[in-house]
Amino acid sequence: MKALVKKESKPGLWLEDVPVPTIGINDVLIKVDRTGICGTDVHIYKWDDWAQKTIPVPMVVGHEFVGEIVEIGSNVVDYTPGEIVSGEGHVVCGRCRNCFAGRRHLCAHTRGVGVNRPGAFAEYISLPMTNIWHHDESIDRDVASIFDPFGNAVHTALSFYVLGEDVLITGAGPIGVMAAAVVKHAGARHVVVTDVNPYRLDLARKMGATLALDVRENKIADAQQQLGMTEGFDVGLEMSGNPQAFRDMLNNMCHGGKIAMLGIPEKEIAIDWNLVVFNMLTLKGIYGREMYETWYKMTVMLQSGLDISPIITHRFHASEYEAGFEVMMSGQSGKVILDWNN
Ligand code: NAD
Ligand code: ZN
Repeated sequence: MKALVKKESKPGLWLEDVPVPTIGINDVLIKVDRTGICGTDVHIYKWDDWAQKTIPVPMVVGHEFVGEIVEIGSNVVDYTPGEIVSGEGHVVCGRCRNCFAGRRHLCAHTRGVGVNRPGAFAEYISLPMTNIWHHDESIDRDVASIFDPFGNAVHTALSFYVLGEDVLITGAGPIGVMAAAVVKHAGARHVVVTDVNPYRLDLARKMGATLALDVRENKIADAQQQLGMTEGFDVGLEMSGNPQAFRDMLNNMCHGGKIAMLGIPEKEIAIDWNLVVFNMLTLKGIYGREMYETWYKMTVMLQSGLDISPIITHRFHASEYEAGFEVMMSGQSGKVILDWNN
């Protein structure tokens, strides 16, 4: 089968012929239909420090996908060939205290699909049955292919109560923009999204942000005034990983404000901890998705009218993957989809 492989310890990816994965008794084999390119894949493509430390070579990469089950292991009774599914990108141990308690997203032994084990940028992928999410037929196929990052947005956005609250989102990348649509759908009042990229701020406006601010020219405090807010944001979603964005957020929260942090900083961030202490802020780190409450919430929000489809701005055939990565790296895109059908 064809697959996108990190073949050598240098920048780039290679479309190679590799064997179709085998399945164990608890696994399912999926024929991949469409995949989404994630920021993680771009790190692997560029071969930055993180990728060099993390990715064993050779490795089939990618983890955002939708496809059809074509084969099941002898122990699998809950899934059948023909079902349309996605895969949870974190494979957990199933045996640690958190896993046993049903808090699988907190497993300390998580392995990443397309990072530590063969991924989804391929014609076929094998996954444990415990990593399979069956899609309701009402779900659009392109949207189904990005349930993984949509799940990051939903997990973060629903971490704190947002009904009637004012929400600040720093970072209008695909995940920040989807989170804006989610908190709006969940009943937030004002949703202010910040970035330094006009293309992405436009996407945030399209997806329901009350205000989308270019922080190179605007202050969040002025936006608060413009909206008639007097006490600061109730909830903050940090989705940039940028140090200044996080400091801006800390400066604009209300007393008792709650911050969920998804963005991954490149290095340590110095902050004024007095803001956290005296303003009595709550900080919560977010990794991945809750298995499978986040997946359930994604499905029902789409069924109850949430539309995230405008976040998909580009589509390419898998053979044109280089063009897909180029547009991702240009910053002039939302989600980029690769089609794996012949
Ligand atoms: P992205 O890199 O596409 O988006 C980040 C955005 O932040 C960019 O649009 C960038 O222009 C913007 N930004 C830069 N400086 C800023 C500033 N000063 N103020 C406001 N915005 C600024 O990333 P994404 O794919 O949308 O993911 C969002 C973040 O979440 C990234 O940091 C990513 O690494 C991280 N992530 C975390 C998890 C997790 O499980 N914790 C999973 C996926 C992604
Ligand atoms: Zn575990």
